[in-house]
Order: sequence, then structure tokens, then C-alpha cells
Amino acid sequence: MNAQQKLSSLISGMLLVSLLGCIGQGKTGYYNLQAMVQAVDANKIYIPLAVIGSGPAGISAAMYGANAGMPTVVFEGNKPGGLLTETTYVENWPGIKSTRGPVIMETIKDQAQGFGVLFVNDSIDSVDFAQWPFVLHTELGHTYHALSVVIATGASPSVLSVPGEQEYWGVGGVNTCAVCHAPLYKGLHVAVVGGGDSAIEEAIQLSSYAKQVTILVRKGTMRASDRMQKLLSGYPNITVRYYVEVQKINGDGNNITGVQLYNHETKSTEDMVLDGLFLAIGHDPNTKLFKGQVPLDAQGYIEPIGRTQCTTIPGVFAAGEVTDKVYRQAGISAGQGSIAGIDAANFLKELGFNALIEQTLKPYLFTTQRAEKKNVVTVVQNMDEWEEKVVRSTLPVIVDFYADYCPSCMQMLPAFQAAAQQFEGKVSFVKIDTETATDVAEKMYVLRVPTMLIMKNGQVAARYNETMTFKELVEFVQKFVS
Ligand code: NDP
Repeated sequence: MNAQQKLSSLISGMLLVSLLGCIGQGKTGYYNLQAMVQAVDANKIYIPLAVIGSGPAGISAAMYGANAGMPTVVFEGNKPGGLLTETTYVENWPGIKSTRGPVIMETIKDQAQGFGVLFVNDSIDSVDFAQWPFVLHTELGHTYHALSVVIATGASPSVLSVPGEQEYWGVGGVNTCAVCHAPLYKGLHVAVVGGGDSAIEEAIQLSSYAKQVTILVRKGTMRASDRMQKLLSGYPNITVRYYVEVQKINGDGNNITGVQLYNHETKSTEDMVLDGLFLAIGHDPNTKLFKGQVPLDAQGYIEPIGRTQCTTIPGVFAAGEVTDKVYRQAGISAGQGSIAGIDAANFLKELGFNALIEQTLKPYLFTTQRAEKKNVVTVVQNMDEWEEKVVRSTLPVIVDFYADYCPSCMQMLPAFQAAAQQFEGKVSFVKIDTETATDVAEKMYVLRVPTMLIMKNGQVAARYNETMTFKELVEFVQKFVS
């Protein structure tokens, strides 16, 4: 049976599974744990419960899985902590009146680690659910074999898909994260596109820095909750324009200069001068890597079966915004994640996973030591070290200027470390904390973080100001190696 046939056979079990819900999935005869344990491959690394994604859904699933005694590993992805790390204050997280999104995520991660959950700073970039144990390939080049999987990859901000958007993305002035970029717009005029709670949240975040914030709503009303809309009256530099839709983003080749709007009331177009544009127009599920592996609906969401978090593939569960186009609340994601964790643990128990099996598999199970590699990134702390380790280096040097307060900088460090291993001996990788090595940051005109410099023979050969994934970083460095 080839991979496609195996997948079809699994999907044809859909009716049976949907009648049974998750219950009985382990007993359907698809997988034979005893046989797998007897034929265990010493070259493989096994994970009883692998959770893909580290937002509220992923971490809650992991917590319940680990609490049920299942060795559990969370692949944190390119945005550890998920979208909540980019929000400001959250006022509807049960148990806490008001707290910052990143604080919630740090707290639940800490709580999950207390249950024994292992966190891996790596992303899954392809999966094979037609094989069992399921095969997971990571962006940093590892392969793992999972007995069960919870998909909790969340959703990413939607884009407008209008001319100019790609060209001016990031440093050019089009963004989706006010928490990350608001300080760059001090005294300037920015607009936020969207009429939901996120648009209001982004506008409020920007209003502390920008001179003027205009919210651009395409209909005559906002979709945002009354509570959020009422907040706007407290911010005199925020205005709302209704019936306007962005048709095009104008720019001077480097930065945006404004937008072309279509006015649905007057049926005419107009240009609006702007220094920055923030998009808050909803989200798309992060399911690209599961296409052909798990059935997706027309909008790309995974639809769990009934009131469970099962997918139609026994042993694969899904929770959070990757399954939810309606509610999209952190608390709901956490609830769904908890169900998925319980479902996964029950699946493993029904399959026969127990303390004895765990003991037998122990030498082949994932541990952070088995995944870790040696650190080959050099730290530069002052001008003397800069001269010695960068300026006088005989190798090209990639320098990453970062700061602890910058979430995207911190998210990129694992990719930087992995790229350093890949290019060891050919390129030197240096990281510099701009808050301690202020003299170096000043001398090299580092005005924002992250900033990446490629240094060749002591001179700047290239400068880059965006976060990069491991793959992008490798492609970027490759250009300078040959
Ligand atoms: P929503 O889906 O609620 O709103 C998206 C908005 O973007 C809508 O107003 C929609 O317009 C508009 N939109 C979509 N596409 C376009 C386009 N191409 N051009 C212009 N406008 C467009 O998404 P949110 O991210 O705001 O919120 C998601 C969920 O998260 C909600 O449940 C929300 O309550 C929650 N949330 C809660 C917060 C809090 O409590 N602090 C903060 C942020 C989010 P239209 O209405 O015309 O379709």
C-alpha cells in the first residue's frame, strides 16, 4: 500500500470514527503498539504525544497529556506563545482581572513545564500522517516519530492582497503587530484597517506614540464589541472612518506614503497620506503543512468531530484557532486544548501505552539533550570584542542585534543558532544585545531590532531589518558564502 492509499484507508475510517467520536480510536486496529515497540528503531526518536504549536490550545493540550502520564513535547513554532504574545492587556482570561498576553503565556508555559512537558524551539515543517508512528520533520532538520499528535498551530493575521502590500511589508510600513512596531511611529499618522476588537486594540496601542490614528472600516458599523468601541472615546487622537476600503498602498519605493481608498458611500476613490498601515482584518488558519494529511474545510480550517477534538485520522487531534472560525478567544482555545490533551491521552491508553511500555521505549524517547546541538554563536559585549571577533574576522560574520524586550528578536534566536551550526567553519555568527552593548549598536547605526548585518573584511556588506525563519536565514547567508 503506498502512502496515498494508506491515507485514503485512514480517511475511509472517517464514518466509523465519527460515529464513535474519539472513543475507540486506539482500538480500531489501525496501529499496533506492541509490534512497534518490538521493532523499535534505535536510530529514531519517538514522542508519545507531540503538540504542534505553543499558544493557549497547544500548551493546555500538553498540560493535560503530561498530567495523564504521557511524555509530551511541544514544538513551539516560529511564534512561541502564539498570537497572545502580541496582544496588550487581556481582561477576560478566567481568574485574572487584567494582565498582559505575554504574561499569560509565560505563566502557562511554566505551569506545563511543572507537569514535565518539554518545549522545543523548532517548527514542524512537514508531516506524514499516512505512516504510524506519525512522522514529523522540523525546520531545523530533525525528524521525530509521534504516537499521537495535537495540531494547535493557530491562525495568522490575514492580509489585504492589494497592490503595494508585499512591496512595503515590514520596514516599508505595512504591519500586523502594533505591540511590536508602535514606537517607530512616534508623532506620525498611521491607519488601522479593520472593524473588529483587534483593530481597536491596535489603534489604542498606536495612539500612545502616533500623532493621529485613523481606523478604516469598510462597512457602516464596526464588528467590535460595544465594550471595546466605548473605549475609543478616551483617545482623542483616534478617529474612525466608515465605508472606506483600501484599494492600493502608495509608496516612494522605500516606505509607504499613503493609501488609495474606495468610498462605498460616495462611490469614489481618494488618496490618504499616511506614514504607516496596520492590518487587523482577521486571521487565516495555519494549516498549509497539513494539506493532504488531514481533511480541511473550504477556508482551510480543521473540523474536529462532534464535541471531541479528534480529527478523522485516529491519533491526530486539533484544537484552538486552527479549528475555530467563530469564537477565537484565548480561553476557548485553552478549553479546546484541554479536551485535545485528554482525547490524546485516552487514545494512547487505549492503544496500550502504559508505564511499562514507556520504560521499554525510554532510550528512544525524545529528550532535550538528544535534540540539542552545541552552541556555536559568539556573544559580543563591547567595542573591544567587536574589533576582535567581527572586524578582524577572516570569515564573513553574520551579526544579529537583538533586545530582550523584542518578541520577534527572541523568536529568531533558535533559527540563528541552527543556521550557525549549518555554516560552522564557513561563516561566523555573532549576537549582540543592544541594551548592554550600546556602544556597538550606536557605532553601527542600529536604530531598531532585530537588525542583521553581514560583515565582510570588517565592512558592512548587507543590512536586514526583519525577522527571518531558519530557511530564509540560510538562503540569506548562502548568498554571502560563495
Ligand atoms: P474579526 O474577524 O472580529 O474582525 C475582522 C474585521 O476586519 C472585520 O471588521 C472585517 O470587516 C474586517 N475585514 C476583513 N477583511 C477586510 C478587508 N479586506 N478590508 C477591510 N476590512 C476587512 O477579527 P479580530 O481579529 O478583530 O478579532 C478576532 C477575535 O478575537 C474576535 O472574537 C475578537 O472578539 C477577539 N479579540 C478580542 C480582544 C479582546 O477582548 N481584548 C482583542 C482582539 C481580538 P467586516 O465586519 O466588514 O467583515
